[in-house]
Formats: sequence, C-alpha cells, structure tokens
Amino acid sequence: MAETTITIDSERCDFCGTCVAVCPADAIELKESTIRVDKEACTLCYHCVNICPLGVPEVHS
Ligand code: SF4
Ligand code: SF4
Repeated sequence: MAETTITIDSERCDFCGTCVAVCPADAIELKESTIRVDKEACTLCYHCVNICPLGVPEVHS
C-alpha cells in the first residue's frame, strides 16, 4: 500500500508562511527560498492543502 505524503514545491511557493502558521504538527520548514514538509512529522491533516492561496501543497498517495 502506498504511503500518502504531502509535498510543497519551492518553485511555485511565494513563501507567505500561511501553511506554516496553520500546521498543527510544525511539520513545514520554511527557510529563505526553500520550503519542505517533514513527512515523518506530518499528520496528514490537510490544513496546508486547504489554506494555501496558490494551491501549492500536493497530496501524493
Ligand atoms: S497536512 Fe497538516 S500536518 Fe501535514 S504538513 Fe500540512 S498542515 Fe502540516
Ligand atoms: S501557504 Fe502556499 S504559498 Fe504560502 S508558504 Fe505555504 S505553500 Fe507557500
């Protein structure tokens, strides 16, 4: 069975920080011009997917 993960593409992100602020697991690392999801920490709540104004966070399953 495939593992579900969330990814955030730094190339498409404008680094507004909104997803970082709503992530209850503190799983999104935003540093200057890179952003990534710590898949070990992510609880798949989908808040980042639902709140991003640019639709950047993607669900992979
Ligand atoms: S799905 Fe939830 S826990 Fe995972 S990175 Fe997004 S906001 Fe954080
Ligand atoms: S909410 Fe969207 S645009 Fe803003 S930092 Fe997160 S992924 Fe990037």
